[in-house]
Amino acid sequence: MSRHGPESVVCHLFQREKNLHIGRMNDSNPLPQGNWPVLEPGWVWLCGAGPGDPGLLTLHALNALRQADVVIYDALVQEEILNWAPQAEHIYAGKRGGKPSANQRDISLQLVDLSREGKRVLRLKGGDPFVFGRGGEEAQTLVQHGVPVRIIPGISAGIGGLAYAGIPVTHRDVNQSVTFVTGHDQSGNTPSSLNWNAIAQGSQVLVIYMGMKHVEQISSSLIAAGRPADEPCAVVCSATTANQQVLETTLGTMTADIAASGLEPPAILCVGRSVLMRQVLDWQGMMAGDAPRDLDPLGRGRPAEAS
Ligand code: SAH
Repeated sequence: MSRHGPESVVCHLFQREKNLHIGRMNDSNPLPQGNWPVLEPGWVWLCGAGPGDPGLLTLHALNALRQADVVIYDALVQEEILNWAPQAEHIYAGKRGGKPSANQRDISLQLVDLSREGKRVLRLKGGDPFVFGRGGEEAQTLVQHGVPVRIIPGISAGIGGLAYAGIPVTHRDVNQSVTFVTGHDQSGNTPSSLNWNAIAQGSQVLVIYMGMKHVEQISSSLIAAGRPADEPCAVVCSATTANQQVLETTLGTMTADIAASGLEPPAILCVGRSVLMRQVLDWQGMMAGDAPRDLDPLGRGRPAEAS
């Protein structure tokens, strides 16, 4: 038995055809009755689009899509979401297909220009705009230029993406804290400036964004800092989209398993025993007819509702 519980974690890769239990939303009344804010000309709304699945948008985001004259969107925003703003001009401001990303300063100043033209501007970013998304910088530039802003949070990939993989980001039997980490430092290249010793010791569960490029360095730094090589890990790629793939692995084997599986970013890496909960909470697998692999993957030995 490993020190993480009765289940040994071997590498498992899960990819599944989606479109299970899909019905049509009644779109004759797309927003519930209420006092929805008006996107006025000259305003910029900085809005999270969630991790992928359009159903994870907030109602404020939908309200914004309905009113915008222009939507400036990032690479990870799904096309279906943009289709909900057919009246708007769509401007791409991300990195895709190897093209260089638009310069951050240019994007921020473009937002200022559009607002000064009197446009209703929706700046749409993947996940939550204030989680590793440079939303704070863009909003600050807008305020510095006197542009009125509204911030609309979104579901971050490190929480919602894990939930779609059946991994609770906190679980009472596992962690009392969670650390969100970026695998890139400010230069975008190397995580070496991060204090991996402190990160390793800081909390039982680590959720790493943008970690694929440096996964080898990240995992070896964590092991060197005392995290066990057999600690359960998950790699959740394109979470919440039709292409979601989940790799179950361990800290020590993660790099080789990712290489062997051919997985590509975007991906969230999760390090910690909460990954084991997927054995009972892989709800997408269960929707497709799989039985739970283990009803008590943490080896509590008593019902989950018992304290
Ligand atoms: N603001 C975003 C994060 C932007 S940084 C948020 O709150 O989610 C971009 C990184 O987010 C990616 O490299 C990846 O690590 C993660 N990410 C975003 N969407 C994802 C998705 N659908 N599946 C897996 N990872 C995702």
